[in-house]
Amino acid sequence: MTYITLTIQGGRTPLAGTLQPVQVEITGPTIATVSSTDSTPAQSDGAAATLDADGCTLLPGFIDVHVHGAMGADTMDADPAALARMARFFAHHGVTAFLPTTMTADPASTLAAVQAVAAAGDRPHPNGAASLGVHLEGPYISPRFPGAQPAATIRPPDLVEFGALCAAGPVRMITLAPEMPGALALIREARARGVVVVAGHTAATYAECEGGIAAGITQATHTYNAMSGLHHREPGTLGSVLSNDGVYAQLIADNIHVHPAAMKILARCKGMARTILITDAMRAVGLPPGDYDLGGQAVTVTRGSDAQPGECRLADGTLAGSVLTLERGLANFGAAIGLTLAQTWPATSLSPATALGLERTRGTLATGYLADLVLLDDAGEVVATVVQGRVVYLRERERLRANGGDHDPDGPGSL
Ligand SMILES: [Zn+2]
Repeated sequence: MTYITLTIQGGRTPLAGTLQPVQVEITGPTIATVSSTDSTPAQSDGAAATLDADGCTLLPGFIDVHVHGAMGADTMDADPAALARMARFFAHHGVTAFLPTTMTADPASTLAAVQAVAAAGDRPHPNGAASLGVHLEGPYISPRFPGAQPAATIRPPDLVEFGALCAAGPVRMITLAPEMPGALALIREARARGVVVVAGHTAATYAECEGGIAAGITQATHTYNAMSGLHHREPGTLGSVLSNDGVYAQLIADNIHVHPAAMKILARCKGMARTILITDAMRAVGLPPGDYDLGGQAVTVTRGSDAQPGECRLADGTLAGSVLTLERGLANFGAAIGLTLAQTWPATSLSPATALGLERTRGTLATGYLADLVLLDDAGEVVATVVQGRVVYLRERERLRANGGDHDPDGPGSL
């Protein structure tokens, strides 16, 4: 497949702190130039296309580091076709890269999920986002804070199993409980392998969490949820995460997992540079309310509204993932903490890119960076998504306009 030169013009971007006119010239998979709209586009050879971003806000593509599934598909299906289906849905919601996230499961199922991500590869999925590797959520977590992870398959950290998983595919991140026996050795091993280590589903005391951070933990999974809370004489995992400036905090900004006031506290403690918005979405996102499977457990998804997604719960009421999409999370987050997109935008792109060590190629709009972009309208809805220089999603309204009513419902839209 050949690349075209793509110019995005007429939009605005808040990356400099206020909304500024912007024009982006893309050649191949990377950004050639970023300039104000009154500049002249560079001359390009071969085919060229223009994406009209009039009235839109341009942001770096979203990176979701914690997402299980979508559209009936799940990472634990261990099927490259399921990952492709997820990737396509995520792109419709502004996500240009993601970490397919496993559930705590038996060793064979976990290994199969990692192998499937390896088989799918790291190139962007057709009309979809790119996978950046696996996020292992468990199995080395605390039985005291399983959340919706199946408790029967929780096990102590196992260096042999972890090594086999890393050998089987691109393990990029692992969520674990640092107080489990053997966890510190596993944290060090993971860091040596370049795997990002995340505290989560943990009963760790403040001191235990700080010990895990000293060993190499740099992030917390869905902060507030499934971790020991903050007491003023025993600050717990939450106190460690909020007070340690070296730690990134993942946040599910769906107004269900976390109260808006708690989001505000997190934002004030961590700043945007250490806040990472995630969806933790499961296979029901994109589908109607009803009964779904999550890691072998039945989850009931309620009907949501425009303002709030439905709730996903096990039969006992435990929250079990979400049906949140990241553009809505970003809007919820800004509303909760009273900041504008010019302030909050890093939480869906630059912060996760930096936390993954990818800040030299992703997470901002600049010459030489991967051309991963999202266009939002004034309501915060996704108008278009560009993954590595290709328009992989164009909203139907704009597609009809561009094609004069003659459109392919399955295509990203011809430009
Ligand atoms: Zn999760």
